[in-house]
Amino acid sequence: MTDARVRCLSIHAAYECRRTGVCCRSGWDIPFDAVEASAVRALRLHGRVLLEPQGGRPAFAARGADGACTFFNGATHACAIHEKAGHETLPLTCRMFPRLVLHDPRGTFVSLSHFCPTAAAMLFEGTAPVAIVDAPTRLTRAAPLDGLDATDAWPPLLRDGVLTDLASYARWEARSIDLLTTPGLTARESLALLEDATRAIVAWTPGDGALIETIERTFADVRPGSPSIAAACDPAVQRWLAARLFGTWIAYQGRGLETIVRYLGMCLHAFERELEQCGDPLQAIRRSDYHLVHESSSQRLAMMCDEPAPRLRRVAGSGARERTP
Ligand code: SF4
Repeated sequence: MTDARVRCLSIHAAYECRRTGVCCRSGWDIPFDAVEASAVRALRLHGRVLLEPQGGRPAFAARGADGACTFFNGATHACAIHEKAGHETLPLTCRMFPRLVLHDPRGTFVSLSHFCPTAAAMLFEGTAPVAIVDAPTRLTRAAPLDGLDATDAWPPLLRDGVLTDLASYARWEARSIDLLTTPGLTARESLALLEDATRAIVAWTPGDGALIETIERTFADVRPGSPSIAAACDPAVQRWLAARLFGTWIAYQGRGLETIVRYLGMCLHAFERELEQCGDPLQAIRRSDYHLVHESSSQRLAMMCDEPAPRLRRVAGSGARERTP
């Protein structure tokens, strides 16, 4: 049975749009379904252009020469639709951004894309431990929460040919978030500990007892070595990795828990490359999420991360890598 609860990470619970306007100026196609298009036409917004549906394509917001959406007001950073008719009249794409949603039989999980500067800044605010909490209305009011619907899927794979059970997967996810955000460690050290713990967990066989107990024992036995000196940005990068793990679609698209951990390794590598180029950790996280979340297919990333030791080459323009043939 599907749980109706919606959960998020504590670091995202206070999220509210601060009108940076980045999403409205990104040059993205903003589709409107028939109902949304009709509601916007009825507003008669002067000088704003909705491109009519053509050949099976839905209506789209026109864009200016600078790529900005026609409904965006550069002076006020406000959306003309939002201003005149409220948040609920926005097209679904805009109501959802920057939310990333997974539905499975455990309930609904809302994470965020940190390409949004507001979401990225939240990673650098506060030092409280990261917890999984009930999502507040401000995160869920984008309803219907559009995302990957895995409510009828089998539970995530432990490894090729072996399923987890949902309680065990949930425990692995929660313990992994705790481990990834261990204070005093670098992001790379915490990820290495998660790799080691997960490698031990995926070797589980039914003769070992309940999987959930193996997960508990393995995480309880994790002993961080002597940490190196963490950079000032490491806690934020750790929180970012936790956010890429929480409610990840890769759980249902990849072939086991190690695929998810390799995906986190790909995320961290992307961040390090971006940081090398721009020197600003917040911008490096934004650019990484732009490529990993908005420019990549998560199914394709999952397939790339399924293999234990893929030969890799860089994906143009990102820190992400793809397997060579
Ligand atoms: S429709 Fe409004 S919220 Fe959506 S991209 Fe355009 S200006 Fe931004």
